[in-house]
Amino acid sequence: MRIGIGHDIHRLVPGRPLILGGVEIAYPMGLWGHSDADVLCHAVSDALLGAAALGDIGQHFPNTDPAWKDASSLKLLGIVWAMLKNRGWRLENVDSMILAEKPKLAPFLPQMRQNLASVLGVPSDRISIKAGTNETVDAVGREEAIVCHAVVLIESSTAR
Ligand code: MG
Repeated sequence: MRIGIGHDIHRLVPGRPLILGGVEIAYPMGLWGHSDADVLCHAVSDALLGAAALGDIGQHFPNTDPAWKDASSLKLLGIVWAMLKNRGWRLENVDSMILAEKPKLAPFLPQMRQNLASVLGVPSDRISIKAGTNETVDAVGREEAIVCHAVVLIESSTAR
């Protein structure tokens, strides 16, 4: 078994769609980035890569590569998972924590779990997505950014 950790932060700016866990949330601001800037998918992707010691998403999907411009990060997560699957890894579980002062994310968490579960090929009871605020403190608390932390546990499906 291996564990992995992932962390991501993106700035909130006007004029961008807000996409978290592949769910587009109606909000006047969205996350700025080269791809769709989905912090949840990025943190989970990095946790998976970390568990398998396969580097980080910046190495695999450079923000200078036009192929990833406005790319769906749910799709990037699928590419990352394929890399692990091809090496014989099975996913035990994902736990994650999104920190956003606004908007309220609770209504969207079930769909995010569904989206991640379907890309990762597991039942949604193996995917935990939690959400909280930053108690008005720091960049997240000032509604300037959204942060996500994630951990994963993977298990080898082949004798090692
Ligand atoms: Mg990112």
